Amino acid sequence: MNATYKAVEVSKPGEFSEVRKPLLDPGPNHVRIRVEACGVCHSDSATVEGLFPIDWPRVPGHEAVGRIDALGPGVQGWAVGQRVGVGFLGGSCGYCEFCRNGDLVNCRNQEFTGVHSDGGYAEVMIAKATGLVRIPDDLSSADAAPLLCAGLTTFNALRNAPAKAGDLVAVLGIGGLGHLAVQYARHMGFEVAAIARGSNTAELAKKLGAHHYIDSAATDPAAALQALGGAKVIVITASGGKTIAATFRGLRPGGVSIDLGVGPEPIEVTSMDLIFGERKVAGSLTGNPATADTTLRFSALGGVSAMIETVPLSQAAAAYAKMMAGKARFRIVLVMKNGNNPTREPE
Ligand SMILES: [Zn+2]
Ligand SMILES: [Zn+2]
Repeated sequence: MNATYKAVEVSKPGEFSEVRKPLLDPGPNHVRIRVEACGVCHSDSATVEGLFPIDWPRVPGHEAVGRIDALGPGVQGWAVGQRVGVGFLGGSCGYCEFCRNGDLVNCRNQEFTGVHSDGGYAEVMIAKATGLVRIPDDLSSADAAPLLCAGLTTFNALRNAPAKAGDLVAVLGIGGLGHLAVQYARHMGFEVAAIARGSNTAELAKKLGAHHYIDSAATDPAAALQALGGAKVIVITASGGKTIAATFRGLRPGGVSIDLGVGPEPIEVTSMDLIFGERKVAGSLTGNPATADTTLRFSALGGVSAMIETVPLSQAAAAYAKMMAGKARFRIVLVMKNGNNPTREPE
């Protein structure tokens, strides 16, 4: 075994460098993982641009899949050789008020992968066992990677939303998150409306499973949703408070607009629109590890997958720049050894 491994780290805001790091043993309740694939996510900018206080240098990456190659003291329920995933939430503590109430997402002592600890832009990473996700055998590591963040975020929001089978659910924005949200919404049995700017996306949206396509550049999306009876849920995958406000009146009474896209802009909705119709605006943050297990299994069973482009780890900086420029269609995945091979071929 090599005593060092290759990693791409950020030494200061905006500056990537390829380095070799010493191979360390995992500490208590942590595992060491041979990374096979890691998705490049827009939230990596929190690390790369230094939006959070960061202890430099830092390896970004929170859509990592690989095999456990060492268990730290006290780890139970996981085995060497097992393929696992690590998402944005680095693992709950188990003893804070929120953990003790079963709310692992809002654990007070949760670290963010690739922000507070080194992430998956590397051949090796160390992760907390409480944050690990199971990877189904029939998904390749590259296919599984984006599902750990983009997939979980959209699946979890839809799964916990108040819509029932047959209800109208709208997905705003058909990008990295939106193209998965449309597929999940369709597979969950909703009537699905996809909303994006321009007519170019219409064909893709239909192919992903949308029953309706609303071009928000050509029509008022709220009026278009009302013409369909009003949406029970709008999943907002685009960032920007204005986009949320522009679709809000497309909710039917009792409907909820769930924001998944982070942006600095405030969300302006009127109290009239909130009160008359009892509509809600909500936020949703990824999901807990068990829901992540379900996201991956549901994806494998239903054939839901992210459209990905794979590149070697050494091209991480270029991949990040392409993603930030909005040129990724739709997710870029860094691939290390074995990343493209499922353990078992789908039948
Ligand atoms: Zn906790
Ligand atoms: Zn992410």
